[in-house]
Amino acid sequence: SLGKDSGQAVKKDQQYLWHSMTPYSEQNPPMIAASASGSWVTDIDGNSYLDGMSGLWCVNVGYGRKELAEAAYNQLLALPYFPLTQSHMPAIALAEKLNEWLGEEYVIFFSNSGSEANEAAFKIARQYQQQTGQPHRHKFIARYRGYHGSSLGSLAATGQAQRKYKYEPLSGGFLHVAPPDSYRRPDGMTEEAFNLQCAQAIEDMIVWEGAESVAAVIMEPVITGGGVIVPHQVYMDRVQQICRTHGVLLIIDEVICGFGRSGRRFGHHNFGMKPDIVTMAKGLTSAYLPLSATAVRKEIYEAFKDNSDDYGHFRHVNTFGGNPAACALALRNLEILEQEKLVERAELLGRRLTDEFASLRDHRLVGDIRSFGLVIGIELVADKATKQPADLGIVKGIIAECKSKGLIIGKNGDTVAGFNNVLTFAPPLSSTDEDIQFIINTFTAVLNGSWAE
Ligand code: PMP
Repeated sequence: SLGKDSGQAVKKDQQYLWHSMTPYSEQNPPMIAASASGSWVTDIDGNSYLDGMSGLWCVNVGYGRKELAEAAYNQLLALPYFPLTQSHMPAIALAEKLNEWLGEEYVIFFSNSGSEANEAAFKIARQYQQQTGQPHRHKFIARYRGYHGSSLGSLAATGQAQRKYKYEPLSGGFLHVAPPDSYRRPDGMTEEAFNLQCAQAIEDMIVWEGAESVAAVIMEPVITGGGVIVPHQVYMDRVQQICRTHGVLLIIDEVICGFGRSGRRFGHHNFGMKPDIVTMAKGLTSAYLPLSATAVRKEIYEAFKDNSDDYGHFRHVNTFGGNPAACALALRNLEILEQEKLVERAELLGRRLTDEFASLRDHRLVGDIRSFGLVIGIELVADKATKQPADLGIVKGIIAECKSKGLIIGKNGDTVAGFNNVLTFAPPLSSTDEDIQFIINTFTAVLNGSWAE
């Protein structure tokens, strides 16, 4: 056991553990978490931090929920596992519940991570096009700065070059257009006109590539990890219309925006959308256990059912997908979100943070403040007139100072394009009023303290 000897733990961590993404030097030593409750995480030395990012945007109901542990424990005793080549009750119940949450009729395919949910979506989209007489529709259109996962297909869909170039060749057929980054629209252009122009880029690409070669468009409702890029309603309306006109499926990646994070049950509900495929993970279980889902519109699923040839089936096995304990836990997680009205709370807390942060708009480093439910992005710039992104050193310095004062916040954007300059806030939806006040007080003091001049 590592006990409380953090020096020893750090040594062993360095020796045995390969960390996800972050180079060791960036967080040296890393925080070694030991326990957590509500919005607070405690490390092995007993220091507590408010987790202003809910882990990686996922612990929506907060830490330390006994009900979730019990739901998993009871299910593990009753039936720990059975493959979904057959069936079991927790998966059936959760799929039904997800339909209620989605508000439209979908059939649910379970996997274990957001990346896998997107991979399933890509394969379903291609096969659906083939089975409905469109055998050449294999391409996907995504956006620069969007993130869709770490596997070779979902990484190909990702529009952040720094994550990709060392692993090429990735899956073929993925194309990208610019996102509607309204903060950097041309001078004199309205936000609406700019958003329509960005949507038009998708239609232009479909037309130039040949609509008969395009399977689907994939996008998050709001680009989260790429720097909180919030589209105007006209953009989403137009994207839906373009996809319908050209027989292109629309995949909405709700891996971060889903399960209340956006202030609605799903991010796309904010825009009144009816996607063909919806992918989800993280907040589905509040990250207590791995589980993800690909929700597919009933009509699309029908094309897979009505096929006498065995090759008509979706030939995609997932051993762990829809694990009974993970499904039982997810179901309980959704009940907590409902009972404690946490979706509504996300909207309220997001508005409070945004209103309070508005006082920082005049700060020399703050170029823009954007929000979507309980996701807030503060874009830091070196020069407000030219909008030149702030140096990475400044962004990291602010994050480190927040951490030294007990607040964990995120850094997002795109390194290659020089936009890794968006500070992000996505605390648990269950955060108390005091937690939110702590975030406001701590961050405001940091920015107005050492970083004022
Ligand atoms: N899509 C989005 C929008 C994400 O933010 C992420 C994870 N950050 C993924 C997909 C991939 O999820 P996972 O890490 O569970 O594979």
